[in-house]
Amino acid sequence: MINDGHLVISLDFELHWGVFDVRTVKSYEVNLLQVRPVITRLLELADAYDIKLTFSTVGFLFAENKEELKKYLPKNKPTYKNQKLSPYPLLDSIADTESEDPFHYAKSVVDQIKNNGKHEIGTHTFSHYYCHELGQTVEQFEDDLKSAIAIAKSMDISLESIVFPRNMINTDDLCDEPYLNVCYNNGIKSFRGKKKAYMYNVHATKFYHNWYIFKLLRITDAYFNVSGLNTYKVEKFYQKNKILNLPASILLRKHSSLLSFIEPLKTKRIKRGMKYAARHNEMFHIWFHPHNFGTHTDKNFKNLEMIFKHYKELNKKYGFKSETMTGLTNKMISKH
Ligand SMILES: [Zn+2]
Repeated sequence: MINDGHLVISLDFELHWGVFDVRTVKSYEVNLLQVRPVITRLLELADAYDIKLTFSTVGFLFAENKEELKKYLPKNKPTYKNQKLSPYPLLDSIADTESEDPFHYAKSVVDQIKNNGKHEIGTHTFSHYYCHELGQTVEQFEDDLKSAIAIAKSMDISLESIVFPRNMINTDDLCDEPYLNVCYNNGIKSFRGKKKAYMYNVHATKFYHNWYIFKLLRITDAYFNVSGLNTYKVEKFYQKNKILNLPASILLRKHSSLLSFIEPLKTKRIKRGMKYAARHNEMFHIWFHPHNFGTHTDKNFKNLEMIFKHYKELNKKYGFKSETMTGLTNKMISKH
């Protein structure tokens, strides 16, 4: 029997655009400045272990300067009820070029990933768009996505997978189908869905008062098996002429000094999930943000290398493979 187990690793590459509503550049400067060296190290480590990464990148980061960014701005910008969530007013205060402002532009990094040639550059929307927020519309989302596609195309990059910012997508919620259709109609063939467990399917806007309980549960889940192993038979999600769901299995949480005494449980839990996926021809999908590795960098990389080493063992023993989101999607398409 052909082994069909896969490891997928997607990284939400966003710099300040992923956190601008909750943090100032100053308050997160250390982590943000580390993103470039972290990505260089990630590429080296992944290549050493034959791991393929998917960099789900915010469209703004493809710009080298403000002039270029402005050329690609969508006509319809999101009209969030909570205007603090719109990044557009921030454009007036950012500097003009990547060299002056490494927090808001990253064309050189996108180039570095592209030139490496082994990994995928996917989208994290153009403006770190929030699909679940009140006030925005599906038309605005489509314009946003089109801007992301256009700016990527200017660098000869075709975007074929998406990670929704803050994982704001709920495939069980019919209201969100139009968003997925918009993606598919614009050439996006897969998305990173949420874990099945209930604690990953509530979001701040609707359940604000209970938010911290779910957050605590999610943190616990990184170390202890609360939500299960979350491996998936990708076949089950495949539907002809539809965007493919490649749900997340686990967030690789950053090293925590406070919880360092249980740190080994985190990688142990991930390794167990990978092994189950390898043995049962399923997918294990890990995700994190490069800026999470910005502090305690060596400790975070040590954890990641343990995961990569485990992948190599599973690859030898079970034929477990590493794929990008689009690589795996294409395999599914060619099978049908
Ligand atoms: Zn994000």
